[in-house]
Amino acid sequence: MLALRKGVANIRSSARSKKFSSVPVIQNFINGKFVDSSATSFIDVTNPATNEVICRVPESTRHEMEEAAGCAQEAFGTWREVPVQQRQRVMFNLQKLVRDNTEEIARSITLEQGKTLPDARGDVFRGLEIVEMSSALGHLMMGETQGNLSTGIDSYSYREPLGVTSGICPFNFPAMIPLWMFPVAITAGNTSVMKPSEKDPGAMMILAKLAQEAGVPDGVLNVIHGGHDAVNFICDAPEIKAISFVGGNEAGEYIHARGTGNGKRVQANLGAKNHCTVLPDADKDAVVKALAGAAFGAAGQRCMALSTVIFVGETKEWIADIAEEGKKYKVGSGFDDDVQVGPLISPEAQARCEDIISKAIEQGASCPLDGRGVVVEGCETGNFVGPTMLTGCSTDNIGYTEEIFGPVMTCLEADSLEEAIKITNANPYGNGCCIFTQSGSAARKFQHEIDVGQVGINVPIPVPLPFFSFTGSRSSIRGDLHFYGKEGVKFVTKAKTVTSNWTYKGNLGGAVMPTMGN
Ligand code: NAD
Repeated sequence: MLALRKGVANIRSSARSKKFSSVPVIQNFINGKFVDSSATSFIDVTNPATNEVICRVPESTRHEMEEAAGCAQEAFGTWREVPVQQRQRVMFNLQKLVRDNTEEIARSITLEQGKTLPDARGDVFRGLEIVEMSSALGHLMMGETQGNLSTGIDSYSYREPLGVTSGICPFNFPAMIPLWMFPVAITAGNTSVMKPSEKDPGAMMILAKLAQEAGVPDGVLNVIHGGHDAVNFICDAPEIKAISFVGGNEAGEYIHARGTGNGKRVQANLGAKNHCTVLPDADKDAVVKALAGAAFGAAGQRCMALSTVIFVGETKEWIADIAEEGKKYKVGSGFDDDVQVGPLISPEAQARCEDIISKAIEQGASCPLDGRGVVVEGCETGNFVGPTMLTGCSTDNIGYTEEIFGPVMTCLEADSLEEAIKITNANPYGNGCCIFTQSGSAARKFQHEIDVGQVGINVPIPVPLPFFSFTGSRSSIRGDLHFYGKEGVKFVTKAKTVTSNWTYKGNLGGAVMPTMGN
C-alpha cells in the first residue's frame, strides 16, 4: 500500500512545467513506465470547489502517442497468447487492489471532480463491479459449435481479440467509466490506450498503477493525455482497432464519424435527458425523496440523473414537497460530511447552468426552488449551483430542450399515462427513464411502450449491473454494441468460424487429468 502511495505521488510530481514550476504535471503511462511528457502545452486541473489549480495535464506529443500505440501493438502479440484464465486472474488481483484503495481513488475524484466522498466511493464501486465481471470473462468469450453438419463435418466459432483498443473518457465518472473500458478489453486479450478526461485524470492514473501491480504486463495498458489532438490521434492511428467513448453528443458524434470512417469499431455513449413519470397511486414520500436524490445528487452531473419529471394528474401538488426536500440539501465541498450537492466541474459549466435557468424563466417557467448565486462559506470561489426546479415548462422551453448537466429538475405536467409516454418518446434521447406507480398494469404498459433503453419501475436511476449491459438508446448512443456484459465482450472481440472435416482416427487417449492454461 505504501509503495502504491509513493507511486501515485510520483505520477503527479516528478515532472514540473517550466512556466508554473510549483504545479505538478501528470505523467504519461507508456510501456509500463510513468514518464514525463515533453509537451509544450498543458491543461489546468482545478479543484471545482475552489478553482485552485491542483496539477496540469500535458497535451501528449504526437511522438508519445505513437509510442503508446506502437508498444500496445507489440504487446498484443504476446498478451493475446496468454490463456484467458491467466488474464482473468490479473483482474482478480485488480479487484482486490481497487477495493483496498477505494478511499484513495475516491479522494482523488472528490478533489478533481467535486462530487461528495460517499458518491465518489460509489463511482469506484460501480467500476469495481466491471472488474469483478472481467474476472470471469472466459465464459462470455466462448464461441458456438454445431456438429455433424455433413458426414464428418463440424463447425465451431471463436471470439478473438481485435488488437489495440482505446478509451476516451468524460469527466463525470473518473473511475467508473475507465473501468467500463480497459478491464473488459484487456481481459479479452486486447491491449489498450486510454485517454482520461483532461479535467480529472487522477483516478485513471491510480488505476493504471494498480493494474500494473495486479500483473498487467508492460505495454498492455497505456495512458495518454490531452484534448482534440489526442482524440484525433486515437480516431486515426492505424494500430487502434476499436474506440470506446463516453461523453457528450458533439464529441461523440464526431468521434463515431471519424473513427468508423477509418474502418474502426466505435461504441459511443452520449448525452441524456432522463424522464420520470409519476402516477397518482405512487407512494408520495418515497417519490419525493427518490426524485430529489436523483435530480440534485452529484449536482446533476450523472448521465442517468433524473432531470425531467412528468407529473400526471394531481401529483403536480407534490412539486412543493420536492422543493422542500431540495431545500434541505446542503451545497458545499464534497469533502464535508453533511454536504449532498458538490460543485459543477468548471466556472463555464456553472455559468451555462445559471444562464439556462434564467432563460427558462424568461421563456415562461416558474422557479419554486432557485439555486443560482448560492455562496458556500469557505469555498466562495467554487462553481456551485444549488438544487433548482423549473415548473410549468413547455417542451420547447430551453429548460427542457437542453441537457443542463446541473442540479436542475425540469417539471412537466400530463393528464394521463399515455400522454407522459408520448412526451418521453418524443424526446430525442433514450438513455434512462422511470415510472413511479403501484399499478402493475400501468408499469407493464409503460415498460412495453416506452422507447428508452433503461427503464426503472419505482427505481429512479436504473443502471444495469454488469451481467446486463448499459443499454441507452436513440440519441444517447452511436454504435451497435453496448458497454459491458455480453455486448461489451462482443465489441472487443471478433468471431472466427471454423468448418472442419476430420476423418482421421489416431490415438487421442491420455490418462492424466488435463490442466490447460495453468
Ligand atoms: P465531453 O464530450 O465534453 O468530453 C468527453 C471526452 O471527449 C473528453 O475526453 C474530451 O477530451 C473529449 N472531447 C470533448 N470535446 C471534444 C470535441 N469537440 N472533439 C473531440 N473530443 C472532444 O463530455 P464531458 O463534459 O466530459 O461529460 C459529460 C457528458 O457525458 C454529458 O453529456 C453526459 O450525459 C455524458 N455521459 C454519458 C454517459 C452515458 O453512458 N450515456 C455516461 C457519462 C457521461
